[in-house]
Amino acid sequence: MGKCMIIGCGGVASVAIHKCCQNSEVFEGIMIASRTKSKCDALRDKLQPTTKTVIETAKVNADNVDELIELINAYKPDVVLNLALPYQDLTIMDACLATKTNYVDTANYEPLDTAKFEYKWQWAYREKFKQAGITALLGSGFDPGVTGVFSAYAMKHEFDEINYIDILDCNGGDHGYPFATNFNPEINIREVSAKGSYIENGKWVETEPMEIKRVYNFKGVGEKDMYLLHHEELESLALNIKGIKRIRFFMTFGQSYLTHLKCLENVGMTSIEPIMYEGKEIVPLQFLKAVLPDPATLGARTVGKTNIGCIFRGKKDGKDKNYYLYNICDHQECYREVGSQAVSYTTGVPAMIGAMMIMTGTWNKAGVYNIEEFDPDPFMQALNKWGLPWEEDFNPVLVD
Ligand code: NDP
Repeated sequence: MGKCMIIGCGGVASVAIHKCCQNSEVFEGIMIASRTKSKCDALRDKLQPTTKTVIETAKVNADNVDELIELINAYKPDVVLNLALPYQDLTIMDACLATKTNYVDTANYEPLDTAKFEYKWQWAYREKFKQAGITALLGSGFDPGVTGVFSAYAMKHEFDEINYIDILDCNGGDHGYPFATNFNPEINIREVSAKGSYIENGKWVETEPMEIKRVYNFKGVGEKDMYLLHHEELESLALNIKGIKRIRFFMTFGQSYLTHLKCLENVGMTSIEPIMYEGKEIVPLQFLKAVLPDPATLGARTVGKTNIGCIFRGKKDGKDKNYYLYNICDHQECYREVGSQAVSYTTGVPAMIGAMMIMTGTWNKAGVYNIEEFDPDPFMQALNKWGLPWEEDFNPVLVD
């Protein structure tokens, strides 16, 4: 069917690459292009004997638009799947525009120095992508990603209007370390140490970090503490889903994680302000990343399950209705299949599916779109087929 260029070769990319190789009918060729080429080569050497997908590799600095353009022009992919870091979103979008190539990512742009993620920078590319006749699919991971597809599906099939959405992201996995992050520590810590926020009646309501706590009993996992966080899909879902009065995002954290984080924060280790250390400028958070366990090594030791989904409250045929859509994913099963834990798996699988939707022309409209702006049905089918089956509950326990 076509060729896909994957930028980045970290935890999420590794899963997406495994999944592309399982799906050779669509992904006839992939190019893995990242900062450290040896990681791309190692993955190619592992996977090439197992797949018909032809795997090529390249070194690229995705902060450099000209380098990206040269590589895209040489490989001529149908789509570029950006699985590097959010800081590279705009340079990769610029290179896609210059080469008229479709674009998919899993996280919205965040300037390196402000720890503030929002869609305005990427939405500013709408007209340019439309005129170039290419698609940018934003946020094709799990959250954002599957949570948007779930919302579009609930809107299409279960509701006339959705008034309340609570997105619940539960990781019941245990890696045995007192403190480690399940994906890129810098991105993860920036996210959880920021102020919380949610949208109510069209306005953002801000909270202190971890100020709002609830306890929820998750199927497949059990009872967990969860905390309200700011999360990027709130911004797009509040605009794209009809009738929204309030939308919130909760993520589970264990006490050990929070105690360590508080301590690291108190001593300044989570700061993104550069400091001078022995004549060299360093960013404390980046230094912390260097001493923490690499998320890529957690897979083998992580046991337990994730449960991520959305609870919807709204109206159908004039009556109140509640509906919960979620996926349960087992860390060890993921590890057996692709050598990664469930947090990378639940992001990498939808990333492959998003790229597939564009490559097959199943989703085909020029411009810049969030995932909930497309027909959810083919994506929902693909989730069941490619390892993230979903479950539904028509009488869920609600979050107060
Ligand atoms: P990793 O840090 O494991 O991987 C990032 C990869 O990008 C690394 O291979 C890194 O190279 C490469 N990279 C970084 N900077 C550059 C650059 N300038 N040029 C080329 N390559 C570069 O991160 P994850 O795999 O955990 O996360 C990947 C993305 O997925 C992030 O944007 C994250 O926010 C997003 N994400 C989304 C989720 C969702 O549900 N939507 C959930 C989890 C993550 P090197 O190997 O040299 O370090």
